[in-house]
Amino acid sequence: MSAQILDGRALARQLNTALAARVPELPRPPGLAVILVGADPASQVYVRRKGQVAERLGFLHQQHDLPAETSREDLLARIHQVVADPNIDGLLVQLPLPAHLDASEIMDAVPVTHDVDGFTPPNTGLLSQGRANLVACTPLGIMRLLEHAAVPLSGREAVVIGRSNIVGRPMAMLLEQAGCTVTLCHSRTANVAAHCRRADVVVAAVGVAQMVRADWIKPGATVIDVGMNRGSDGRLVGDVAFDEVVGHAGAITPVPGGVGPMTIAMLMENTWRASCRAQGIS
Ligand code: NAP
Repeated sequence: MSAQILDGRALARQLNTALAARVPELPRPPGLAVILVGADPASQVYVRRKGQVAERLGFLHQQHDLPAETSREDLLARIHQVVADPNIDGLLVQLPLPAHLDASEIMDAVPVTHDVDGFTPPNTGLLSQGRANLVACTPLGIMRLLEHAAVPLSGREAVVIGRSNIVGRPMAMLLEQAGCTVTLCHSRTANVAAHCRRADVVVAAVGVAQMVRADWIKPGATVIDVGMNRGSDGRLVGDVAFDEVVGHAGAITPVPGGVGPMTIAMLMENTWRASCRAQGIS
């Protein structure tokens, strides 16, 4: 048996095309600003990709590149300046930030209206109560992929590996709200493999290359690989040992081409949503 490949690239393209077609409906195009502090090479790639997609969709896009030594005061001032621009609806501050900056304090400065990453406490709080506003893009994109592939969720067992505020935790909440019984595993979990073996859906968001092996997966289960790890040869490798799991799972996301493009597509949808609200369109 070979698993169905959940093609995030194709679905993202489809969603992006549909969204681009709607841009002329708005009085002005949605505006997305990205602040990048420092020159982390991976962050530069992600920021560039987000900008390219925003421009392709016909959004207004601003990129603010700040030096790594930017002070807390200067970064906060830039955030206030960006959100005061009436053409900007969404702002994201690319993570990780340099160590001298407190990421929580900086994220708290992003107004909930502009929080298209869905990372601020008001948005995560609303999600936890089942009243989602702007939801973190990676878990939101995974839900869209699962929905598109008609993966049954209600009454099923799901395991999420990783409990970060930007992926694992919101992912667990969304799956629970879709009717799954969710187990959230982390670095202190005694036997992650044993939890996975019971699961109908496994989401790996760890950052450990090829950690999830074929014998962790119940035959026919759906496996979502969030991991983006660089191998010694520079190749992108997921948290799942794709080559062995693909013969075991019912459906699986590839890396690259699975979750990554969906994350960007959801950033565009969140920016669209923020823009509609800012322009008084429901
Ligand atoms: P993170 O903040 O570093 O969190 C990693 C989580 O994995 C933590 O909760 C940690 O547990 C857990 N963990 C670490 N080692 C483990 C182990 N051996 N067994 C079980 N759990 C373990 O990472 P993140 O930001 O969530 O990102 C996770 C991965 O997804 C990374 O590879 C990242 O590059 C990728 N990512 C991809 C996208 C995309 O669009 N495709 C978006 C975001 C992130 P503790 O909490 O106990 O430390």
